[in-house]
Amino acid sequence: MDSYRVTTFGAPLTLQAEPTPVPKGREVLIRTTGCGVCHSDVHLHEGSFDLGGGRKVDMGRSIGLPRTLGHEIVGEIVAAGENVAAGEATAGTRRVVFPWIGCGECALCTSGDEHLCNQPWALGVNRDGGYASHVLVPDPKYLFPFDGLDEALACTYACSGLTAYGALKKAREAVRAGGDLVIIGAGGVGLSGVRMAEAVTGIKPIVADIDRSKWTAARDAGAKDVVDPSDPEAAKALYRMTAGGAAAVIDFVGAAASFTFGFNALRKSGRLIVVGLFGGSASLPVPMLPLKNATVMGSYVGNLDDMRELMALAQSGKVPGLPIATRKLSDANEVLSSLAAGKIVGRVVLTP
Ligand SMILES: [Zn+2]
Ligand SMILES: [Zn+2]
Repeated sequence: MDSYRVTTFGAPLTLQAEPTPVPKGREVLIRTTGCGVCHSDVHLHEGSFDLGGGRKVDMGRSIGLPRTLGHEIVGEIVAAGENVAAGEATAGTRRVVFPWIGCGECALCTSGDEHLCNQPWALGVNRDGGYASHVLVPDPKYLFPFDGLDEALACTYACSGLTAYGALKKAREAVRAGGDLVIIGAGGVGLSGVRMAEAVTGIKPIVADIDRSKWTAARDAGAKDVVDPSDPEAAKALYRMTAGGAAAVIDFVGAAASFTFGFNALRKSGRLIVVGLFGGSASLPVPMLPLKNATVMGSYVGNLDDMRELMALAQSGKVPGLPIATRKLSDANEVLSSLAAGKIVGRVVLTP
């Protein structure tokens, strides 16, 4: 098998050839037919996340080099281990892979939240992922059919789609008794969130984005209104539009300014859900938490149940597609650089 691997953080990926693995036990071997390039691949490639104030999270130890990136994987089942029953993984069928795999034994894993495990086995992060001709998946339960969906689109549900869906589920609880949903950031994952918002929460979102070139896309994706959070009048306008603040705000940017804007946009009992990993640190007047009865929470991808629900929702035709471009796997380095430079609109899926 051929893999494009991180061998030194920040340096170009290296093409490495090695024997194709033979699946054992419950493992399933997939021949990769597509792998989405996620913005977090840029951070994984650099080996760190910016926390603001010059502080960074070093991910070097948890990733372990060399590592094959790529966690939005779609492919064809080639072979399965001796403990996989006949109907569980049929050779020749195509599946999307759920990559957010945990240890399977800790309290978080046994409660179903494998994606939050402290000893993660996430494909393309802690284990080798999809920037390769083949991927070894530890169990067929991580494989999802995508009948009726475009293959390149289907693989993006494993991260960008799941991230948007997981956050929208949290927002749904906050808007259950009425009120508005504000989505900050209409870039990649944010735009997925806008597209999916009505199907998941039952309401059309108000979108906040400082980049006016994204407003048309936001409206086309289902935004009922758009505001510019850098406009000093935006907070007041939003307050009027929502009759006193939003019941839920999802911050798909995750920067100091978006966090502050999002918190200020909440009504009483509102919920701010932070998803983006842009980086930075923000201060919050602590008494505003009790005075607003507010909740500030994070949302990280989603679990296997979320993936199952999302794939069902997508297959029912309720999730509009995303602009997807395909590139050759051998262009992985170029695609990562363009993504880091903010030059990619929509999603790029690499094909071997
Ligand atoms: Zn991702
Ligand atoms: Zn675990």
